[in-house]
Parts: sequence; C-alpha cells; structure tokens
Amino acid sequence: MTQTSRPFLPFVRPEIDEKTIQGVADVLGSGWITTGPQNQQFEAELSAYFGGRPVRAFNSGTCTMEIGLRIAGVDAGDEVITTPVTWVSTANVILEVGATPVFVDIDPVTRNMDLNLLERAITPRTKAIMPVYLAGLPVDMDRLYEIARAHKLRVIEDAAQAIGSSWRGKRIGSFGDIISISFHANKNVTSIEGGVLVLNNDDEAELARKYRLQGITRTGMDGMDCDVLGGKYNLTDVAARVGLGQLRQVERFTQKRRELARAYFEAFKGGAAEKLDIGLPVADFENSNWHMFQIALPLDRLTLTRAQFMEQLKERGVGAGVHYPALHLFTLYRERGFREGMFPHAEKLGASTVTLPLFTQMNTDDVAHVVGAIDAIFEQQRNA
Ligand SMILES: *Cc1c(COP(=O)(O)O)cnc(C)c1O
Repeated sequence: MTQTSRPFLPFVRPEIDEKTIQGVADVLGSGWITTGPQNQQFEAELSAYFGGRPVRAFNSGTCTMEIGLRIAGVDAGDEVITTPVTWVSTANVILEVGATPVFVDIDPVTRNMDLNLLERAITPRTKAIMPVYLAGLPVDMDRLYEIARAHKLRVIEDAAQAIGSSWRGKRIGSFGDIISISFHANKNVTSIEGGVLVLNNDDEAELARKYRLQGITRTGMDGMDCDVLGGKYNLTDVAARVGLGQLRQVERFTQKRRELARAYFEAFKGGAAEKLDIGLPVADFENSNWHMFQIALPLDRLTLTRAQFMEQLKERGVGAGVHYPALHLFTLYRERGFREGMFPHAEKLGASTVTLPLFTQMNTDDVAHVVGAIDAIFEQQRNA
C-alpha cells in the first residue's frame, strides 16, 4: 500500500463562509442574541424560498416533527406510518405525542418507504404518514399524496435531509401538507442546530409559534396567558444568522453535491467494488440534493465485516458513517414488540450501508481517492 500525505477526509464538514462568520460576530455584538430580528429575517427568507408558504423556525428538526404531529392533531391512540430506516427521532416523536409508530419496509432501490406496501399498513386508527427522504431523495410525491388523500390522512414530511431537493421541478417544501426540515450541523444547510416547519395557513403558523414557546398567547404587558402546552424550542439569533448565510448558498451547495455524486458514479465504473456488486444509490440528478452518498456492502461476498471495512477505509485516510441501522431493532422498539424479520429490506440495508464523504469543499480528486481506497479493499477481497 502506498502511503499518502493527504489530510484525513471526514464524511462531512460544514462550509461556513467569511460573510456568515462576520454576520455572527455582528449579532453577538448587537445586544440581542436570542430569538429576534435574525430569526424573523430567516423565517422571511425561508418562506420566500418555499413559495410564500408560512414557516416557523425552531431549535431542532426533531421538535419540528413533534410539533408538526401536534398541529396535525395526532394524539394518543392514533397510528402514524413511517420507515424503519431513518434517524431514530422520526419514530421517537410519534411515541412522544402518545401515538403508535407503524413501520413499512423500504424499497431496496430507493431505500425509502415502499409506497406499494403503504396502503396495507393503513388501519382505521391511522392518522398520518411520515415519509422520510433518505439522503435527500424524495419518494414518489404524486403517489404519496394520492394515497394520503384517498384515505384522508395527514402527511408530516420528515424532509430533514431534503432542503434543495425537488419533485418534478417543484421544491420539496413548496407543496404538500406539513414539511419538517432540519438544520443540524451535518445537513446541507445548517444553523448549527435548528429546523423549520412549512405550514398550510396562518392558523397552523400561529399554533406552531405557541408550541415553540410555552404556549404563550400574550406578553406580560397585556396580562400574560398561555393556552396550549408548549415547550422551549425557539432558535437563537446567532443560529438564525448562520442559517441565513447558508440558505443564501443552497443552490450552489446542491449543484456542487450533484457534481460530486456524478463523480462517484464515474469513479466506481469498472472497478473491483463494482465487480463484486457493491450497492450504489439511485443515480438521480434532478430531484435529490445528494445529502449523502451511500453504498451498501455485499457482505455475503466479503470476508470482512462493515466495521472492519470502515476501519480499513480509515487507515487509508477516509472517514465514513452509518445512516442508519434499522431502528425497529433498537431496545426501545423491541420492547414494543418489533423483531428481526419484520422488515427484511430495512434490516439488510441497515446492516450494510456506509455513508461516504460528501461535502461542498471536496473536489473530484477526493472522490477518486475514496473510490480508489474502496477498490483497493475490494481487490484484496477478490484475491483472498
Ligand atoms: C437530522 C434528521 C432528523 C432530526 O434533526 P435534528 O435537527 O438533529 O433534530 C430527523 N430525521 C432525519 C431523517 C434526519 O436526518
């Protein structure tokens, strides 16, 4: 193996430009650092970005989903349908509002909820569907909303990873029911931590505002009151300023990510990994924002485990992640009756998926290096 002097390549790294850093310094010096004018500006620009729909910004993309469920009227005893291949918060918020998560297996090609299995999971208790757009690839949005309408179900989109994605030329978030997007540090657009809810009307936006801060309806001056059980979910102005600087670059970020994803497909062509049937994502350059580039290891054809594979990648200077193990096998969900074998495609992907480096400050040389490292590992396997 040749030693390289390349710096270690992490699987993700945020790009914060100088203008944003200066903007943050200005906010810090302004005398108002928590929710205020920057938050208002962030909401105004987000609303414009989502075609003028009402939005509310929050301090995470988890509380946005929980509040989205509350606004949709999801309550104790209701069922909410989602996918087992997602960040665990998608299912946790369903439990948080007292409802029951119902999982539908994934389509192994798109790695998203299999819409062909969706209708048979609907029962008289089903209240809502929470689709997830893994790695930024949306589900068939026409089909999703057709099914939702036919069964009179609400949709709370976990579009946490999908800012910049679209469906048939329309931005994700600019249409549909309630959309939740995350601005966690690893997402395509970040406010360090944060999230946004895209809503249908002013009543929902007002309710979202109340849930965001203790259900307060009036300030102290007017005789304080609160009328719903809200929480503490407001976004600081420092975070909002970071989000603003990021949102203004979303088109460039998405373009760059699509370029890098294309470079991955090119680099994998004809190599040892391809010959051993490594699983590649759907080559979609219209809809996906390429939040992640994920491979699925053909573990039945390898003599190494995923952990060993990732360790060898690391030795070659390449970071990687796992997004995500099938969550119905976590203790919290096993205790609720979920077992191995219930969602075989999700379990197989969850055990074999690896997220490769993809961030805007990478270049195609970095991509070639990653794929070179993978091919070298696979070449050893072929000769083993
Ligand atoms: C990031 C993410 C979330 C949660 O977002 P936070 O802002 O970290 O709370 C939810 N669902 C998915 C699919 C995510 O990737």
